[in-house]
Amino acid sequence: MLAAMGVAEGIRRDLKGASWIRRMFEAGAELRRTRGAENVFDLSLGNPVMEPPEEFKAELRRLAADPAPGAHRYMPNAGYLETRAAVARTLAAETGLPYEAGHVVMTVGAAGALNCALRALCDPGDEVLVLTPYFAEYLFYPRNHGAVPVLVGCDDAFIPNLDDLAAKITPRTKALLLNSPNNPSGAVYSEAVVHAVAETLEREGARHGTEIAIASDEPYRHIVFDGAAVPFPQAHYPHVITATSHSKDLALPGERIGFAAVSPRMPDAALATDALVFANRVLGFVNAPALMQRAAAVLQGVAIDIGGYQRKRDLVYEGLTGAGYELVKPQGAFYAFPKSPVKDEMRLVDALMKRGVLVVPGRGFGMPGYFRVSFCMEESVLEGAMPAFAEARRELDG
Ligand code: PLP
Repeated sequence: MLAAMGVAEGIRRDLKGASWIRRMFEAGAELRRTRGAENVFDLSLGNPVMEPPEEFKAELRRLAADPAPGAHRYMPNAGYLETRAAVARTLAAETGLPYEAGHVVMTVGAAGALNCALRALCDPGDEVLVLTPYFAEYLFYPRNHGAVPVLVGCDDAFIPNLDDLAAKITPRTKALLLNSPNNPSGAVYSEAVVHAVAETLEREGARHGTEIAIASDEPYRHIVFDGAAVPFPQAHYPHVITATSHSKDLALPGERIGFAAVSPRMPDAALATDALVFANRVLGFVNAPALMQRAAAVLQGVAIDIGGYQRKRDLVYEGLTGAGYELVKPQGAFYAFPKSPVKDEMRLVDALMKRGVLVVPGRGFGMPGYFRVSFCMEESVLEGAMPAFAEARRELDG
């Protein structure tokens, strides 16, 4: 009791705010108890069941068998030079821009990279544009640094509404969080969309005499379907910090390895990198995990089997459309974001839960009336869940 008394008001509000998260968590635990874990189909999490590639395991064995002296010590806050150089070589090859080790800071996942970027960019009271639907943590990360998230709407295909974007830009706007392939919608923004977003930031920034950075959150860049290509915002706009990780493409979310990279086209790129390194230190990350940095240095270009995800995407898309749900076919990441057949999506969430299926309500991503289905689990779990979608729909229609 005594300890709880010291908890900040803001945190207490946040803990209460998303009461549906706790409700779902508790309901999920109760379902497992009563139905048995094998009869619960949890499609609520973004925690891939895939194992990391063999190359990763081989590299870990090699590192353990022949450890470099001092392999477990602190290193410079930016990370090992050889890892930063390897990441820079990959970025340079992918983008055609002259990335060097000096543009790259190794971080504790994409989440660490985003927080470093926002700390580097924002003073208290500054504003951060968040495109709806958004990764739920985007409401919290700006506030970690005293900044304010400002929501921007989208169209029916979850593409940003440019008029709304322009209207939301003020002299305090410091950054836009861009996430493509998108969690939760599975949308991949086209070259034209990224260009139009960049143009809007350029134009409105010039009007206010400010520079607005894009923090490009890209952990799903390599998980795309039907040959989709993910444009690089830094090809369209100079002020870009890429924030990404190997949580999804190497299936290593628990290992917390990612990076932030400043575009070589950014004026004052060296100062921006210094700011990221400083942020990495003072936010208490200090440096990204040492062993994972060593592995990342040799695993650039390696990825898990994307074909497996495309099969799961097809299974979910066909299953849900077959059951009468309206949804945009995901082009990337491992989520589908269908429309709820009833306006209050909590009713659908409850109807599914009754049948042992867990999904996340759209309100968690800023879009009530929708729900998120994750498809990073085994196909047997996805198949087992499908009948419940048709039954829940019939219940709500009837
Ligand atoms: N950004 C998005 C859009 C995500 O979906 C996630 C994780 O699910 C993250 C960032 C955090 O990734 P990481 O595990 O690399 O910190």
